Amino acid sequence: TVGAVAVDEGHVAAATSTGGRWFALAGRVGDVPQIGCGFYASPAGGASATGAGEDIARTTLAREAVRRLEDGEHPTDAAANAIDEFERLTGSTAGVIVLDESGQTGSAYNSAAMQTSTDF
Ligand code: ASP
Repeated sequence: TVGAVAVDEGHVAAATSTGGRWFALAGRVGDVPQIGCGFYASPAGGASATGAGEDIARTTLAREAVRRLEDGEHPTDAAANAIDEFERLTGSTAGVIVLDESGQTGSAYNSAAMQTSTDF
């Protein structure tokens, strides 16, 4: 996965790309192109997710992280709490990066590893 979230003068953008999953069924639509699943942005901030796409889609992980920003959580807490909730609901693994409208960042994952830029 390559995910990015950016903010510039109040405009928030989020994007996610993926190499896909091994042995995916032909015609599978994963989480990555679905708004709120692999990516989401609102005036409060944005998020990009990676991991088990079916579970990310079921729990709308990126939307959940941004909803937490909208509720006033710091990006660090929004990311950690979204991943905790994701794990509780699915028992699966994922990661998420989060940026708020003021440029503060956060990230969390429950997979073995997730690389982020130093700003996250
Ligand atoms: N979330 C992607 C998928 O399930 C895989 C990934 O890039 O993390 O298609």
